Amino acid sequence: MSNQTSFPAGTILGYPRIGRRRELKKAVEAFWAGTISADELESTAAGLRSATRARLVELGLGQSDSSIPESFSYYDQVLDAAVTVGAVPSRFADLADSDGRIDLAGYFTIARGEGSRAPLEMTKWFDTNYHYLVPEIGPETAFTLASERILDEFLEAKAEGYLTRPAIVGPVTFLLLSKASDDAPEGYQPLDRLADLLPVYQELLAKLADAGAEWVQLDESGLVSESIDVPRAATLAAVETAYATLTTGERPSIFVASAYNSLDDALPVLVASGVEAIGLDLVRGSLPDALDPALGHLGETVLVGGVIDGHNIWRGDLAAAYDKLEALGRFTFNVSVSSSTSLFHLPHDVEDESKLDPRLKSWLAFADQKVRQIATLAHGLSGGRVVIEEELEAATAALADRLAAPGVRDGDVRAREAALVGSDFERDAYAERLEAQEAALGLPFLPTTTIGSFPQTGDIRRARARFVKGELSAEEYTELMRDEIRRVVELQEEIGLDVLVHGEPERNDMVQYFAENLDGFAVTENGWVQSYGSRCTRPSILWGDVSRPAPITVDWSVFTQSLTSKPVKGMLTGPVTILAWSFVRDDQPLGETARQVAFALRDEIHDLEAAGIGIVQVDEPALRELLPLKKRDQDAYLEWSVGSFKLATAGVQTATQIHTHLCYSEFGVVIDAIRKLDADVTSIEAARSRMEVVHDIEASGFDHGVGPGVYDIHSPRVPSVDEVTELLEKALASIPERQVWVNPDCGLKTRGYDETVQSLRNVLEATRAVRERV
Ligand code: GLN
Ligand code: ZN
Repeated sequence: MSNQTSFPAGTILGYPRIGRRRELKKAVEAFWAGTISADELESTAAGLRSATRARLVELGLGQSDSSIPESFSYYDQVLDAAVTVGAVPSRFADLADSDGRIDLAGYFTIARGEGSRAPLEMTKWFDTNYHYLVPEIGPETAFTLASERILDEFLEAKAEGYLTRPAIVGPVTFLLLSKASDDAPEGYQPLDRLADLLPVYQELLAKLADAGAEWVQLDESGLVSESIDVPRAATLAAVETAYATLTTGERPSIFVASAYNSLDDALPVLVASGVEAIGLDLVRGSLPDALDPALGHLGETVLVGGVIDGHNIWRGDLAAAYDKLEALGRFTFNVSVSSSTSLFHLPHDVEDESKLDPRLKSWLAFADQKVRQIATLAHGLSGGRVVIEEELEAATAALADRLAAPGVRDGDVRAREAALVGSDFERDAYAERLEAQEAALGLPFLPTTTIGSFPQTGDIRRARARFVKGELSAEEYTELMRDEIRRVVELQEEIGLDVLVHGEPERNDMVQYFAENLDGFAVTENGWVQSYGSRCTRPSILWGDVSRPAPITVDWSVFTQSLTSKPVKGMLTGPVTILAWSFVRDDQPLGETARQVAFALRDEIHDLEAAGIGIVQVDEPALRELLPLKKRDQDAYLEWSVGSFKLATAGVQTATQIHTHLCYSEFGVVIDAIRKLDADVTSIEAARSRMEVVHDIEASGFDHGVGPGVYDIHSPRVPSVDEVTELLEKALASIPERQVWVNPDCGLKTRGYDETVQSLRNVLEATRAVRERV
């Protein structure tokens, strides 16, 4: 039984682990490169954990009240949970010692693969741009407590004089996020293994209690999502079983955290289970229904209100956040405050930004500022609103300043939106377009193309770095990029591709590049957040009304077209993806912001078309990612996301061909959306999943052009001609010939030239052979 001690008044669900200057990324990559040892990596990581604890205390969390979560990870928290419970796929079994333990090198091997051993699959973490590794569970999985890293980190903190709160992905979410292993029979559900998994969690909890942990955090965000392929009733039954089991035996008090939306019907089940604290996301999710009878049974259970947005960078409305805590106080006396999600979605510290406009800075809160806000609200919870009145007012004033600042509302942008009519979103009938485009473009059967980027070489990156530092003039930089474009065009002609691209050498990132060239955005210097493993991105800040001061890509595309008689495809990033991969203003619906971005793109496409570019691709790789976790929110999302794409693309002439690109192979989930996008050609990832997606395409009756990828660009492996031929034939077996395009799975920017050239040659060779045969 737990010896209940009170839950801290204020806490966070997790903190960035990559380091203020990406120290962990650098150390991990140095370890991979063999330039530092495992011991050196471990000591860097221990240093970061230690600095984090000290910083969190400085920011107002308690040193010995369990308010500091131990949320460190070398790579990914789901992989950590898998390694903790011994859920290592059989192809990696040799990495473990006789007790099932895996060292750091082995841990990274599971994450990244090795030779012919594929790594764990990676997928998006709820509706965020963070990617986790998908555990593989089958009848062969032998759960055992195979890593005590969580315990060790608690003890490490204790030795430094802290009483912290170990955090781990909870058992139900762990299984919900897993997939059936290759050895599992048809229809196998990882969740069926719950009863075998729970003893391992129990053993871990007992050890933590024994070591002196008073609270443990089990992250159960899987309970908020309705897009997981398990019937809701089975999920709720699993919650009941899991927490009936975990609340017995020796253990710390249990805090079940949830994020990314409301728990809905899982809340009463958790309340009934007897866990000591339950975390609610009150930013994306809503307050529990006041009439919910479960709330009458709360007893001593603490409700932890996630009222500070852990997924966005606004300082926001602190008084409104406090109001939500007071509203929770109507259900129970035991209210605490936390972030709505782990703060690992945020950069560390606004104070690390020396170049941001000071006025904009005063509207922002990165992880460190959020912790201070939480400390403030916690203070208010104990001392009453009066003791924090000043801070609440300061935040309210900053928010008022933000809403009234020049650029936040731009009259011209607003007037244009107000004048929108339905026909702005519609193109001519597809049949007419098809005919006009065939006549205008004269492409062969099975047209070949690429997704846009060519390898971003060291030379390109160095040139950009020198340009940013002022060591190269704009003219010199442009000339270097043009040289690169010349090479890329020559190469594509030589290989024999039909629709050429310029290769995107001038783009640092497919979203940031546009953010830098549009009004309404700001970019940061040190605002890195983890995307997966050691990969970080620096999301732009979309703070105001968006408009396009001048054409962005037109000169590049026109220059490229001047080099060749083949059609050159203009290349833009779509509104949904620009929003998904930026920090977006939260003072208006996303759909409104998306339409502003769409207007800017519509103008860009118009200018491209006027300059003679007959094909324009608008990438929307994030369309699936932003799909709401709750079914009730999905229609409204599809309405505005598809609407913004159509607004961006529907202004073109009949003969102009619009392409889009999607970065995943789950066609079925978003088929309605894809159909409604009404792009003339859609390219989609397929090689990586051996063309499985073509069955969904076939079943959907989709009749526009479609390019299922025939070359997996995620690995340096060169696909053989036979392999590509086989994939192409699979595609042709399911999709009518006239619809099929031939292209890689995604852009080539992370690849090297050698493998790229060889792979594209093989793609062309296979295509030519298939063309002859069909
Ligand atoms: N056009 C982009 C590229 O080729 C698309 C990248 C993406 O879908 N993530 O790099
Ligand atoms: Zn892609």
